[in-house]
Amino acid sequence: MVAAAVARQFGGARRRLIEELEAKGVGDLAVLKAFDDVPRHHFVPTGVAHRAYEDAPLPIGHGQTISQPSVHARFLALLRLTGRERVLEIGTGSGFQAALLTRLAASVFSIERIAALAEQARECLRACGIEQVIQRVGDGTLGWPEFAPFDAILVGAASPEIPVPLTEQLAVGGQLLVPVGDKQGQALVRVVRTADDFRQERLDPMRFVPLIGAHGFEA
Ligand code: SAM
Repeated sequence: MVAAAVARQFGGARRRLIEELEAKGVGDLAVLKAFDDVPRHHFVPTGVAHRAYEDAPLPIGHGQTISQPSVHARFLALLRLTGRERVLEIGTGSGFQAALLTRLAASVFSIERIAALAEQARECLRACGIEQVIQRVGDGTLGWPEFAPFDAILVGAASPEIPVPLTEQLAVGGQLLVPVGDKQGQALVRVVRTADDFRQERLDPMRFVPLIGAHGFEA
């Protein structure tokens, strides 16, 4: 009864968010369907659950945020995933983007440096019946060489530079998305590994929390 009432309460809000994403230019149906499948209100603290379907970042504790839905949608749409890829996410945060990725790729690996957040994300994913995210606590700027190469690597935090270990762990044809800049603002950078080189392009302006690690900012 209670679960059905909660689903009804958030169902309308979720549909409105999807319409808002479409109006903001997200045309990728698989990405929109992923937003429809994954209940964002399960990935935010109860105190802000009433705002779960606003197109806004929200606090998730430990000074971190769940990113704005349109930013997650932009990253996912850029990757054009087909369902066959091996993907690495740096910055698990709430676990919401990892959950979206399970709807779009074959395998999802996610690294978070704050153990308490990683555990919280693990519980939220389990509560939603999502078992296929392989998580680790550690410095994501070093990547996860044991499982490389990756078809896509998404960095959900701001980096002062492109972390070299991540480019090295891309498969040929693979893409890295990373916001690069200072702590006040960044540009989203896409790096594509070609057979014998790397191609780089600067995309949208962004504002993320800092990536802290050996190839990021100092703690
Ligand atoms: N996409 C996430 C979500 O769906 O909730 C939000 C990511 S949040 C904006 C950025 C996350 O990156 C934070 O949880 C932060 O602790 C984490 N982070 C920062 N530096 C990191 C690093 N070197 N390795 C792994 N995670 C890191």
